[in-house]
Amino acid sequence: MLMISDYIRPKSLEEAYELLTNKENSQLIGGGAFLRLTSKDIELAIDLCDLKLDFITEMDTSIEIGAMTTFREIEKSNTLKKYFGSILSDSVKEIVGVQFKNYVTIGGSIYPKYGFSDLITALLALDTKVILYKAGEIKLEDYLKEKTTEKDILTKIVLNKERALTSFKSLRKSSGDYSVLNVAVSKNRDGYRIAVGARPGAAVLVPEAEELLNSSATINEEIVNKTANIASEGLSFGSNYLASAEYRKDLCSVLVKRALMEVIA
Ligand SMILES: Cc1cc2nc3c(=O)[nH]c(=O)nc-3n(C[C@H](O)[C@H](O)[C@H](O)COP(=O)(O)OP(=O)(O)OC[C@H]3O[C@@H](n4cnc5c(N)ncnc54)[C@H](O)[C@@H]3O)c2cc1C
Repeated sequence: MLMISDYIRPKSLEEAYELLTNKENSQLIGGGAFLRLTSKDIELAIDLCDLKLDFITEMDTSIEIGAMTTFREIEKSNTLKKYFGSILSDSVKEIVGVQFKNYVTIGGSIYPKYGFSDLITALLALDTKVILYKAGEIKLEDYLKEKTTEKDILTKIVLNKERALTSFKSLRKSSGDYSVLNVAVSKNRDGYRIAVGARPGAAVLVPEAEELLNSSATINEEIVNKTANIASEGLSFGSNYLASAEYRKDLCSVLVKRALMEVIA
């Protein structure tokens, strides 16, 4: 059972960071949904809810999303749909239910780099940067590869405001379950990006598959099939209670193909 001895709502990021790094056994709270499932003994719970980190803001060349923005806000945002189609709303729409999505946050989902995450895979297919209070700006693909050693606060993410054709595909055994595998594809002026997650490891890009698409004058079904094969052959997959590595490998080529066909259509 989760035990919290003390609870605070800091009024600035500086205060939150000071408490997080100086107070032993302290922990940030986003929506609290995942923390609730743990059996930790937290001395000080630091709730970020008063820090005005709940926003989706359109800037000149980017879109900024605050760490306390909920999945429901991501799902409903017309700004995000205008530039990126339904990739982000599709990535969260199947997750548990509306009440749940009303309090689950993007900060609490991206910072821990959950391998099962649907949202991370969709963001990876877009050009996304993570902004940490102490460590500053880092590309999402690099952030996911790094081993987190120091405590930090994810303050917001920044998406390149470049219109993109997109698709998100995942397979769940039943609604409310975690994805067995998820795939996101985007295409903008800079080319294609393909992300595969829930392998069950953290989401990754597939540069060899992207290169084939970016160097092909026309994208036909043959190129799509080759790309899907490169993705499933080139990535590593693991087994867990949801599926075997072999099943995930086969599924990967199917989902990449489906997502690509949607993007090129
Ligand atoms: C029953 C259940 C089913 C789920 N199903 C899915 C699913 O199918 N697909 C999917 O993608 N996800 C799923 N999730 C995960 C969910 O979508 C969220 O990713 C998860 O709940 C974390 O978000 P939160 O706001 O609740 O974070 P919290 O539980 O508050 O925090 C999680 C962790 O992040 C840290 N943290 C919080 N905010 C920050 C911040 N701003 N900076 C740094 N660290 C921070 C906390 O200290 C904690 O370690 C599921 C979760 C649950 C509980």
